[in-house]
Amino acid sequence: MKVCTRRPGVGLPVAIAIAIAASVSSASHAATPARDNDAANDVVIRNVRVFDGTRVLSNTDVLVIDGRIAAVGAKFDAPKDFPSVDGSGKTLLPGLIDAHTHSWGDATRDALRFGVTTELDMMGEVGRLSALKTRRESLARTDEADLWSAGAAVTAPGGHGTQYGMKVPTLAADGDAAAFVAARVGEGSDYIKLIIEDMSAYSATTRIPTIAEAQAKSAIAAAHQARKLAVVHVSRLSEGKSAIAAGADGLVHIFGEPGDAAFFASAKKHKAFVIPTLSVLATMAQTGEGRALSEDARLKPWLAAAQADSLKATFGSATPKPAILADAIANVRALHAAGVDILAGTDAGNPGTAHGASMHGELELLVRAGFTPSEALAAATSVPARRFGLADRGRIAVGQRADLWMVDGDPTRDILATRAIVTVWKNGYAVARVQPQAPAAAPIGAAIPAGSLVDDFEGDVATSPMGMLPAKFGAGWMQTTDQLAGGASIATLKRENGALAVSGEIKTGFAFPWSGAMYFPAAQPMQPADLSARKELVFRARGDGRNYSVMLFSGVQMQSMPSVKPFVAGPEWTEVRIPLSGFNGADLSRVRGFAFTAGQPVGAFAFQIDDVELK
Ligand SMILES: [Zn+2]
Repeated sequence: MKVCTRRPGVGLPVAIAIAIAASVSSASHAATPARDNDAANDVVIRNVRVFDGTRVLSNTDVLVIDGRIAAVGAKFDAPKDFPSVDGSGKTLLPGLIDAHTHSWGDATRDALRFGVTTELDMMGEVGRLSALKTRRESLARTDEADLWSAGAAVTAPGGHGTQYGMKVPTLAADGDAAAFVAARVGEGSDYIKLIIEDMSAYSATTRIPTIAEAQAKSAIAAAHQARKLAVVHVSRLSEGKSAIAAGADGLVHIFGEPGDAAFFASAKKHKAFVIPTLSVLATMAQTGEGRALSEDARLKPWLAAAQADSLKATFGSATPKPAILADAIANVRALHAAGVDILAGTDAGNPGTAHGASMHGELELLVRAGFTPSEALAAATSVPARRFGLADRGRIAVGQRADLWMVDGDPTRDILATRAIVTVWKNGYAVARVQPQAPAAAPIGAAIPAGSLVDDFEGDVATSPMGMLPAKFGAGWMQTTDQLAGGASIATLKRENGALAVSGEIKTGFAFPWSGAMYFPAAQPMQPADLSARKELVFRARGDGRNYSVMLFSGVQMQSMPSVKPFVAGPEWTEVRIPLSGFNGADLSRVRGFAFTAGQPVGAFAFQIDDVELK
């Protein structure tokens, strides 16, 4: 084979991986269980210290009936056989509300294990918005936190939020911001999130498009017209000032540069709130907060492997920049002193964070910013409930949903006590806090049949129900293009003259365009297959002389980075042999798919492959 040295952009594999993971996982979500009418969401918690969302009540009883708080007080009667829990020496709190997350996959399950019973997603999948509403109105037993979501955000073409591989709508420079917001309201967004970001906070050279100030102003006005909150992503002082001047209800980050008195006063005057997300700023500062959480003995047993890995990850510059976190904390301190509402939020879903666990770190960081422990706990319960209009949660009071958690000790004195979780209740049901499976025990992929031939493309075959071309084994062949990520490239797959013909066009529209064919070796798309006994991917290729890539997707996580090998498809049929060991970092016991794709440059492409074998 001819080996070329071209490497695809680093963003490409990630984008494909996330897009595919998102499209597959949305189909495989289990349905919410129907409400059961048992008495398992009745309980009385006796003799417990209560933090009710704003203040501390000592030696209190809390009665829960049918998933709601029925009474809070001293020593009331309950039937003899009524389920009772002794809370002596413990503290009962309203379920935590993480006011800034990106929640997909296991996020809401991970959150609940750590006492986070509600998450506010700040940009995510749109198709699930109505299902989320149904679920959070229910009092059924569940192992997931409830979720509110901004759905799609108001961002410019090529702007922040378009780089993650999900197809997202964008507001062009000459676009109608009010119509754009109306479309989001129509989709079911719970609030409107705007993104003001040009990357200048992170890079001296990289700049990306962002929405104009006038567009921000009219988007915020349109949100208010529709009775929705408008919240804004900023990462600079100047952006924070302009967002608040434009009428934003809140900022979903504080910036990691010094603020000034005019900003603090303006936030107060406009009654804006701020969700600082100190957890993710600590990741950028690389000051080790995430790693410390991953090593905390009280949290560690409940972290899934992917959560522990994420907490240890960093992003941003190559060297620590502690000033980012120090400035951010100083800004939060000043805002709090000025009387601005601060809402605890982590930006979980990003490197350096983990759903649920990071809220315990965020609470600690708020205390570092001058909050009393009770003020920090209010910022994670009653304050976000009040600002986001979540009427049935955030407090321990009669009529509130029984989203509760109990810890050993007194976190209103020592904030680190939030980590000593004894019990979490969701909708009044005690949550089974199952220890996540260790990574070594994760099952290897499905066995595949003996024999090496994947496909020789001989004979007539019908298309499978999912629009795939069947292969000798596995789910078969499917087209894959950057349309998953908002691009415009196209691909056509055809079995033709005993070969697989792949043709199409790479078009502008996504920064790392791709188009081609994807093969899934297990019975379902992206399901892992065990190829550890196979040594080599062999196929024949011919085509227009372009450089192409084979990307191998593998591992425990569906959105893990693929490993990439180049090949060239020239005018003559040529055999390409790629040792599977040459796919660096691939987990051959869990292979999810092989993509044969064209990338840059823009223009038409055509290639054929044949006699594909896994030897
Ligand atoms: Zn975010």
